[in-house]
Amino acid sequence: ARRDAQLRMSVSEREGVSVAAQSVNVAAARQRLWTPGSWREMPIRQVPDYPDAQKLADVERRLANALPLVFSGECDRLKENIARAGRGEAFVLQGGDCAESFEEFDKYKGENIKSTFTLLIQMSIVMMYGLHKPIVKIGRMAGQFAKPRSSPMERSKNKELELPSYRGDMINGPDFTLDARTPNPERMMESFIQSTATINLLRTLATGGYLDLRRIHDINLEFVNGTKQGARFAEFANAISNAIRFMHSVGLQTDSPMIRQAEFYVSHEALLLPYEQALTRFDETTEKFYATSGHFIWLGDRTRQPEGAHVEFLRGIANPIGIKCGPTLSRDDLLELIELLNPTNEPGRITLITRVGAGKVRDHLPRFVNTVREEGLNVTWSCDAMHGNTENSPAGFKTRDFRNIYSEVKEFIEAHRELGSYPGGIHLEMTGQNVTECVGGMLELGHEGLAERYETGCDPRLNASQALELAFLVSEMMDT
Ligand code: PEP
Ligand code: MN
Repeated sequence: ARRDAQLRMSVSEREGVSVAAQSVNVAAARQRLWTPGSWREMPIRQVPDYPDAQKLADVERRLANALPLVFSGECDRLKENIARAGRGEAFVLQGGDCAESFEEFDKYKGENIKSTFTLLIQMSIVMMYGLHKPIVKIGRMAGQFAKPRSSPMERSKNKELELPSYRGDMINGPDFTLDARTPNPERMMESFIQSTATINLLRTLATGGYLDLRRIHDINLEFVNGTKQGARFAEFANAISNAIRFMHSVGLQTDSPMIRQAEFYVSHEALLLPYEQALTRFDETTEKFYATSGHFIWLGDRTRQPEGAHVEFLRGIANPIGIKCGPTLSRDDLLELIELLNPTNEPGRITLITRVGAGKVRDHLPRFVNTVREEGLNVTWSCDAMHGNTENSPAGFKTRDFRNIYSEVKEFIEAHRELGSYPGGIHLEMTGQNVTECVGGMLELGHEGLAERYETGCDPRLNASQALELAFLVSEMMDT
């Protein structure tokens, strides 16, 4: 009944709920029995009202009977890899679309997935070269469909019509019509099906021979050929080819899986809890619950209230998880979150993904790092260099400046060095497609060029040449 009441509440009413007012203290929360559905008792933000509860329940039932996308052993292995990055023995590269889309999936027939995958692999090769450490590769893929919004409603350009905001293809459609903007639970099913196809393609690309380092020259993206980054990548590729040829000539095995395969993981924001709950499974071998919707899922900056529903859901699953740390995150909330989400202080369980914006890293990172250090908490630090750097171009395009993205990463690395902690990863919105969504970079894309191939339905992504350039810069900065 409570859930029905909550569903009936309008989005704006619910967004306005003062979570602090419904104070549930951490000790009490920890003692309450967790179930995959216990989040339903907690105040929730950013989850839509579904007008048809019957239809929602039907989709939840179908998803609860669907096959898992990932297995517990893979999640545990990723957790170990992330723990390594926490200790400074590896580095995490996480990237992909702001939001995956049904339209791109239909239009590109997998090419966009393949190109973003290829780009992440290229970046990891570039970074491995400078860092001399393994790069843990995680896509924002196969489930990144639901978006938190700052405003529940959106006005038409002429201000006459007001409709619910677009919340990602898993929830509603981008067209500015009442029909498209009404949350439709069938979209969860479609997202799930697209995710199964996506992860299948990714697994094939990662292990099916496509990535063989012995033919590294073929791993390239056409449109970075002929650019400065493309040429630098070719140099790296030559060096790697020579090393492998040398290994072969002295009789070392060069057809091992290390050379022929990549470990690749998928991730998304744990936002739409009915979807996450329906895909949560009890694992008999570990006797723990796992979200089987992706290997790594994260808590968004808008849904990280310690007493809120999203934290409640995440505290009971065993996957490695991320917490977005924006400028408004307080010391107390950070401590409560880590206590709730990682009571055993397990390394690799928590990645703190800071996203404070260029020029502001030194205002926030030291207090985060000191808090964690004082309490002896195990975390892995990553930098989302995108979400603190969004701006509007003169023509009204939502964009980001490559210089700010680069600056935030640089400040992140330098500040961690000064503090004696390890900058363990980066988190990017990027695509292997040749889009024009972020300004700057070596090709000096200006504001006037944005209109050319602006394809994102949500936030602006780095294109392949910008992302590869950033990988070179990180590689140089981290080369010690
Ligand atoms: C995102 O990663 O797409 C996102 C919305 O980030 P944040 O929660 O940090 O704003
Ligand atoms: Mn985004």
